[in-house]
Amino acid sequence: MRLISKTSTGTAIRGLAFGVVAGLSLTAGSDWLSTAQAEEPAEVSPVKARPRDTYYPNTEDLAPDEMRVIACGTGMPTTRAAQAAACFLVELGNGDKFLFDVGSGSAERISSLQIPYNYLDKVFLGHLHTDHFGGLHDLFIGGALMGRNVPLRVWGPSGAAPELGTAYALEKMQQMLTWDLAGRVGLVDFRGYAMDVTEFDYKGENQVVYEDNGVTIRSFPAIHAVDGSVSYALEWNGLKFVFSSDTYPNKWFDQYARDADLVVHECFVAVPDLVTKMRFSPESALMVGTQVHTAPEAFGKVMSAIEPRMAVAYHFFKDYDTTPAVYERIRQTYDGPLSLAEDYMVWNVTKDTIRVRLAEVNHHTWAPPLAAPTQPPSPDDRKAYEEKLGVSLEFSDFTKTGYWDVDDVLRPIYQDASERFGREFPYPGDQEDTGN
Ligand SMILES: [Zn+2]
Ligand SMILES: [Zn+2]
Repeated sequence: MRLISKTSTGTAIRGLAFGVVAGLSLTAGSDWLSTAQAEEPAEVSPVKARPRDTYYPNTEDLAPDEMRVIACGTGMPTTRAAQAAACFLVELGNGDKFLFDVGSGSAERISSLQIPYNYLDKVFLGHLHTDHFGGLHDLFIGGALMGRNVPLRVWGPSGAAPELGTAYALEKMQQMLTWDLAGRVGLVDFRGYAMDVTEFDYKGENQVVYEDNGVTIRSFPAIHAVDGSVSYALEWNGLKFVFSSDTYPNKWFDQYARDADLVVHECFVAVPDLVTKMRFSPESALMVGTQVHTAPEAFGKVMSAIEPRMAVAYHFFKDYDTTPAVYERIRQTYDGPLSLAEDYMVWNVTKDTIRVRLAEVNHHTWAPPLAAPTQPPSPDDRKAYEEKLGVSLEFSDFTKTGYWDVDDVLRPIYQDASERFGREFPYPGDQEDTGN
């Protein structure tokens, strides 16, 4: 495990216990030899368990004064199996959890953590590129299906026009899901299939957009693509987490990201690799890699200015042949504590230490435990949805003519359930008022 703390002189101190290098291996300094020797365990047993340097979700308590941040997406707009797009989960010792961006593919990473979905009901979007909110509809629907029975709450910025704002985008997203929702209403507990959207002014400078239970989240403008991008700072219990979403280096970040413990800032692929690996023209590579996004050299300048306890670079494909360029370019302008993020990187933050590890997750997860009991489906929900749409959700006579008769094998399932649960589950069609 790697422990990093900051002394009063601002010097990073690193401790390396058990001689194991954490998931983070690219950190400034070369003091590992002496600390490793100093902390050599006295005895290595052939039969006894040893402390582990991997985070296994749901095996560790979060201390009352601790913040845990998990990267659920660190990649690019084109998702790939190794990296989902932008998503960072912040868990606090007071029980609160917050998601910052839910980019494409990140809902799968979130599900692998097996956190009850009622606890994952607060999402803060930095901007409306799909690599920052393309997983939101998956979290919205999939989270409700696996146990969230409260609305999904989403905060995000306005834009230069109403059509460029968060409220517009998420209203259209819910409209896009009309068929999906119509196909579920009345068949499942429908309380979680609702979205509470709060749009705030993207021009707000360090404006409070959330304040509850000792947690304050502020937004400040970012410069990215078009007007309507923001960055966030979360403060709780003397700890500060900052998330850039996407931005060009800017004066607001320099001002409001200071005094932070963990700063997650975008850091793009080095320009030569945009040409060779992403097959951009040199013109596009220069424009996208330096002007639309933050180049590694510029990322380093930002971090040298704001001096976080830990700088986290994300938004690049982290491969053996492209990571060195990102690292070397950052190191031209920054020599402080650094994490080059990848999916499932975990930071445990307290006032004294920042522990960096990778999580090992179960890829075959089902529903996490329910934080609140589920309710049986309500025919009233279905009626209300039909009235809203002005259409019957019953199958048409045309579709009904296609039914194949397998009642003989399905009826015993109902009988079995009735016996096991000690109450009658009428077979659809046997009673006119079943809602089916
Ligand atoms: Zn973007
Ligand atoms: Zn992006």
